[in-house]
Amino acid sequence: MSEQYDVVVIGAGPGGYVAAIRAAQNGLKTACVEEWLDPNGEHVLGGTCLNVGCIPSKALLESSEKFESLRLHGAEEGIVAEGLHLDVPAMIHRKDKIVTELTSGIAQLFKANGVTWLKGRGTLLADKQIRVSGPDGERIVGAQSVIIATGSVPVNIPPAPLTGSTIVDNTGALAWNTVPQSLGVIGAGVIGLELGSVWRRLGAEVTVLEAVDSFLPMADAAIAKTAAREFKKQGLDIRLGTLVTGTEITDDGVLIRYKDSQGEHSMTVERLIVAVGRLPNTKNIAEITLPVDARGFIEIDDHCRTSIEGVWAIGDCVRGPMLAHKASEEGIAVADRIAGKIGHINYDAVPNVIYTHPEISWVGKTEEQLKEEGVAYRVGSFPMAASGRAKAMNETAGMVKLLADAQTDRILGLHMIGVRSSELLAQGVIAIEMQATAEDLQCTMFAHPTLSEAVHEAALSAHGLAVHSVNKKAR
Ligand code: FAD
Ligand code: NAD
Repeated sequence: MSEQYDVVVIGAGPGGYVAAIRAAQNGLKTACVEEWLDPNGEHVLGGTCLNVGCIPSKALLESSEKFESLRLHGAEEGIVAEGLHLDVPAMIHRKDKIVTELTSGIAQLFKANGVTWLKGRGTLLADKQIRVSGPDGERIVGAQSVIIATGSVPVNIPPAPLTGSTIVDNTGALAWNTVPQSLGVIGAGVIGLELGSVWRRLGAEVTVLEAVDSFLPMADAAIAKTAAREFKKQGLDIRLGTLVTGTEITDDGVLIRYKDSQGEHSMTVERLIVAVGRLPNTKNIAEITLPVDARGFIEIDDHCRTSIEGVWAIGDCVRGPMLAHKASEEGIAVADRIAGKIGHINYDAVPNVIYTHPEISWVGKTEEQLKEEGVAYRVGSFPMAASGRAKAMNETAGMVKLLADAQTDRILGLHMIGVRSSELLAQGVIAIEMQATAEDLQCTMFAHPTLSEAVHEAALSAHGLAVHSVNKKAR
């Protein structure tokens, strides 16, 4: 008789570990299988997000941001940092320490909540049995319910195969101990912009090669346009409509061959990051037929149920945005559904953030989507340059843009580019979740002086009532 659990979760990223904790909180006997090994060969929890994704990238974004801010703007604020210099190994060490603290924190949470951590690779077998192949050999465990949360892996492209530490993906680009003089990045998506920003701020000359002709097509066009202008000012060289056709390691680094509308070209960079998207990690995870779509995403219904009774799937390995908080919310909802409770997810209110400087943040529909859907809307906007707090922070770039339904006044979208806009975004998420109107935000009191006041003013501006900026005629 195999070891039997109520719930076995395969994968302990932000989808799986959160699902496991909630399942245990719901009184279910829960185990979580995880195979990730850290660079020292130790088993760790946390998945992509904690080990090589959200957390380490934000640690380096913070450090590099402080360095650049002091270097460029310290003197004008009367802070003279003589001999300001970088200690990249110390920066990387701090990042690694944060990762270790957080991943071991999950191990403690597992203990505290009574979740059993099964170290090793999990394979789904028939009858909801799972083979765990780990450091202690193989064992079979059984479950009433299985939650698959195996996440995603970076896309590799044939013209730029990874090579140790010269052509790398996100994992390699978060571990360099020195700053390359020149850096190429393939892909002007979220990872390309975030990691390109880190190394540019630390001194690299960064060129981003993007295949598509438009910049940040998923963002509201006005925000994307402002972002492109800000990045250009910072010296990030973003080349759209550029297809990499080949790479070669040379004595000087990497020779990149690419083509654009002007023809074929080449350039040499010291190092290269490949950031062209991620694919679901669903190969060889089951020895039974687990239906997947053409790109490998596990097929599920609206409640994250697969077609196999009692088998659920969540996070990056299923449809929807590849975001940690989306994975976690699905994990909680599924663990609650298994326990007979109601699991709630509002896919219309998923927050999106690109942690560049300034940060790009949005929730809900873009103006382009509303136009396409034929929805009549009002626009309110407010420039960060008119915010007293932003001025005090020396951070006046960007804007807040709010979209509200022309008839019902319900807030349909909040789009921002500005310092710490990631922190302002929750206001838009709550507003959409609570079905608030622009008027509801207008009637709400915001502390002064805060960056949040820009959201208030954008809501006022939607009705031509902004006080601290000139109103455009309300549309
Ligand atoms: P994962 O985090 O990928 O975890 C899956 C886990 O399953 C892994 O630990 C893996 O080892 C394990 N696993 C897989 N197969 C098996 C198996 N057969 N047996 C045992 N274990 C298995 N998202 C944000 O929301 N905000 C951000 O700021 C952000 N920044 C990012 C930065 C980078 C550089 C990257 C790469 C990603 C970033 N993301 C961010 C995306 C985020 O990391 C993912 O959306 C999130 O990790 C998905 O969670 P998950 O649990 O579905 O999968
Ligand atoms: P992405 O989809 O955001 O961007 C990939 C970019 O590469 C796209 O612009 C695409 O057009 C381009 N591209 C694709 N093939 C190309 C080629 N051959 N040559 C040149 N350009 C090419 O993917 P990503 O940046 O790799 O990130 C992967 C996922 O991780 C994203 O879906 C994102 O949701 C998640 N992520 C989120 C955050 C965050 O929330 N802040 C941060 C990092 C990653």
